[in-house]
Amino acid sequence: MWTFVLAISMIWNFHHVSEQAMDMAYAEAQANLNKDITFRRWGTLHGGVYVPITETQKSVPWLSHVPGRDVTTTDGHQLTLLNPASMLRQMMDLYAADYGIRGRITGLRYLNPGNAPDAWEKTQLEAFERGEKSEIWAVEEVAGKPYLRYLRAMIMEPGCDKCHAILGYKTGDMRGATGLNLPLAPYIERIDNSQFALGISHVLIWLVGLAGIALGGWISSRWAVEREASRLELLNHRDQLEALVDERTLQLSHAKEMAELANRAKSTFLANMSHEVRTPMNAIIGLTHMLARRNADPSQVETLMRISQSANHLLALLGEVLDLSKIEADRLTLENSPFRLGALFANVDSLLGERAREKGLWLKHEVEPQLLDIPLLGDSLRIRQILLNLVSNAIKFTERGGVTVRALLGEDSSNDVLVTITVTDTGIGIAPDALRRVFEPFEQADSSTTRMHGGSGLGLAICRRLALLMGGDVVAESVAGEGSTFALTMRLAKNTAPESEELPSARVSGAEAVQQLQTRHGGAHILLVEDEEINRMVALELLKETLGWQVDIAENGAQAVDMVASTEYDLVLMDIQMPVMDGLKAARAIRQLPDRQQTVILAMTANAFQEDRLACLAAGMNDFVPKPVDPEVLYAILLSWLDKKLG
Ligand code: ADP
Repeated sequence: MWTFVLAISMIWNFHHVSEQAMDMAYAEAQANLNKDITFRRWGTLHGGVYVPITETQKSVPWLSHVPGRDVTTTDGHQLTLLNPASMLRQMMDLYAADYGIRGRITGLRYLNPGNAPDAWEKTQLEAFERGEKSEIWAVEEVAGKPYLRYLRAMIMEPGCDKCHAILGYKTGDMRGATGLNLPLAPYIERIDNSQFALGISHVLIWLVGLAGIALGGWISSRWAVEREASRLELLNHRDQLEALVDERTLQLSHAKEMAELANRAKSTFLANMSHEVRTPMNAIIGLTHMLARRNADPSQVETLMRISQSANHLLALLGEVLDLSKIEADRLTLENSPFRLGALFANVDSLLGERAREKGLWLKHEVEPQLLDIPLLGDSLRIRQILLNLVSNAIKFTERGGVTVRALLGEDSSNDVLVTITVTDTGIGIAPDALRRVFEPFEQADSSTTRMHGGSGLGLAICRRLALLMGGDVVAESVAGEGSTFALTMRLAKNTAPESEELPSARVSGAEAVQQLQTRHGGAHILLVEDEEINRMVALELLKETLGWQVDIAENGAQAVDMVASTEYDLVLMDIQMPVMDGLKAARAIRQLPDRQQTVILAMTANAFQEDRLACLAAGMNDFVPKPVDPEVLYAILLSWLDKKLG
């Protein structure tokens, strides 16, 4: 492209230079010819001029026909007539000798043979004569050299007749031509020089341009190479980074898996361990209860009550550890049974009201009335657990004033409600830095108060996790020395199905239950299936000694099935883990027996997981008594099932 542009430019410039030079040559030729013609016309105006006859200037021979060609002046000088053409010719000769520009006088007919036209002139003269043109110029070789040839037709004027009428010309006729040959050598040299300079400069520009293009190409290709190199490097880095991230992610997820595995293993271990601990706890609590009932010495009974309290505290702690480990092992499933908040608050009141009054504190409820009776679905036992924890904490950490429980209805849609329950106390409060930690397991605001108040530091951690499981949260606000507010929010589904059964809101007390069992179900005949001797002792104490029932004993599931097959019992209490045949298998076998579908079978197990409880129901048992057996719980359940049987 560049070469092409420069070539075009050079050609155009060459042409332009030679045109310019030729224009100048033409201008010079024209100026010369104008001058010559004017000079000749001047001669013609005067009918020629007389000049002295000398050796070199004789009379003009072809003017012999002109009268007065030679004259003698009064003082005797010899003069002869020089016609304009001769006059001009002489001048032209001088001019040619001095300046190299050769003037020409020519015609098709002529007096002076020296005026004969050459071939080119003859052609032009004939064209003039035909009237085709009156002047011409051309570049022609003359004697091997380039000339600009210029020829202009000459028209007869009255002054010409004197000499030329003899040739037959009249005024107005084309008589011949005046012209000149301008040597073009200087112009051609000038053209050559200019073209040479132009050529050189074009070549230089072309070379510089080429160099520029080459350099530009080189630089841009180097850029391209560098760009490509850095792109590759970037890609490489990215790949490396991705590989690194992948590897780390893999390591991390592996580590996370391991950690989760370890956490689950730990939780399972804790759950198993707490089960194992519960079994002897059952014996301790049961036997202590038995001893206390039989002992008349008040100081010994006092000691036995202390043992019982400590055992119960340990049991509560175990329960909390178990809860926490179940939550962390993702093994805690929430129930979805119908309940109402009103019943729940009444229950909390009945369980903790006494404790508050003993400390001289108030315990009051402020519940939005419409909230009390909305039928809800949820795990009311867990909600009760949270409320009991918050309220008992509030009572524990308050010395003056009291505790207020408020329930507020947040969002209320057709499907669910957002409920906020706050527990506000006027107690010791919690310092801000401790407030952040109280929801962490085993964290207590202040170790000294802990010693004063007891507790494990697990309660709030469990409450918060339970609330999160229910799609809510527990948060705390507190001013040290003034009191605290704990707020539990939960989203609870509305129960739209017709309600079947509600949880027993308040249980009859132990003494009442014993009395009712004795009056309504005295002398009942039941089967106790239990492999552990101590557990049997405890159970016998509660059932046989206290209630006066007839209690048969089976030491494993197989024995139990045989006994139930032959005897119709009012009720069967079934341990789960036993040698030979476990409680689940035994229950299934009993349900296969003729006429034993309605026999009430209650499971007794230290397994505290929900799925264990469900497994009992799935095996055909009617209900579940947790171990260690709390006499009050046992009596309440027995009463409700035997009543059902009666009713
Ligand atoms: P625990 O009460 O068994 O120690 P919690 O997790 O229930 O365990 O409570 C953790 C700690 O939070 C308590 O030890 C106490 O320091 C602080 N705390 C909880 N509730 C209150 C309250 N209402 N007022 C003052 N401090 C409280």
